[in-house]
Amino acid sequence: MSNQILNNLSVIIGRIESACVKCGRNPKEVRLLLATKTVPASLIEVAFEAGQTLIGENRVQEIKEKYDQLKRYDQEKGIEHTQHFIGHLQTNKIKDILKYGVSCVQSVDRLDLAEKLHNRLVFENKTLDVLIQVNTSFEESKFGIAPSEAIELVRGVAEFNTLRIKGLMTIGLFSSQEEKVRKCFKLLKQIQQDVIALNITGVEMKELSMGMSTDLETAIEEGATIVRVGTAIFGQRIHPDSYYWN
Ligand SMILES: *Cc1c(COP(=O)(O)O)cnc(C)c1O
Repeated sequence: MSNQILNNLSVIIGRIESACVKCGRNPKEVRLLLATKTVPASLIEVAFEAGQTLIGENRVQEIKEKYDQLKRYDQEKGIEHTQHFIGHLQTNKIKDILKYGVSCVQSVDRLDLAEKLHNRLVFENKTLDVLIQVNTSFEESKFGIAPSEAIELVRGVAEFNTLRIKGLMTIGLFSSQEEKVRKCFKLLKQIQQDVIALNITGVEMKELSMGMSTDLETAIEEGATIVRVGTAIFGQRIHPDSYYWN
């Protein structure tokens, strides 16, 4: 199992590098985030061992379950992994997000969530990095703000001074037709450019989190700075993604 993961990791790193070379980007501009939903801590550690220490979780319950073991691993090895939240966040889980070491919520898709995050952060005297999740595929089953409302949401979230807006996140359309998937990523890039042009105080728009196991090359060609990869590294999951996304 761990050999398989190491092998898969080097394949993915190779794919990221080739995609960058193909479109004239520096591979250092693209970070690999390991989508670790359903993956036990012991297998996440295999990736840490190989130097990949950025993970993203979808469910607070899983973060809690893996927290102690991963923290112990960090201490033993003298490393520090980074954990983002990439799933649908319910407001009653905000306290836990902050307690269990999430440094960036990539899935901010509504103002009331931002407001409640802010209130808790003020109380704890902390700040938090966030990305705004946009539904670029227009699929009802996916979370994320509608593209036409994204700028208004960025403006609203920017009012909360505990939230550091670093960029945008999207899940591309599930389709074998590459051009349809590419349209989603192009749209996210366009929204990024539109936000940058507005020059909103406190808003950084460097990060574009897009691209997964099957479409990371397309995402990189369209400007991804973070690709989120699960299946191609850890294998098929027992739950379908609708379990997490609906
Ligand atoms: C599961 C997940 C991924 C990774 O998907 P794979 O197809 O397994 O690479 C990326 N982003 C989000 C938000 C996810 O939930």
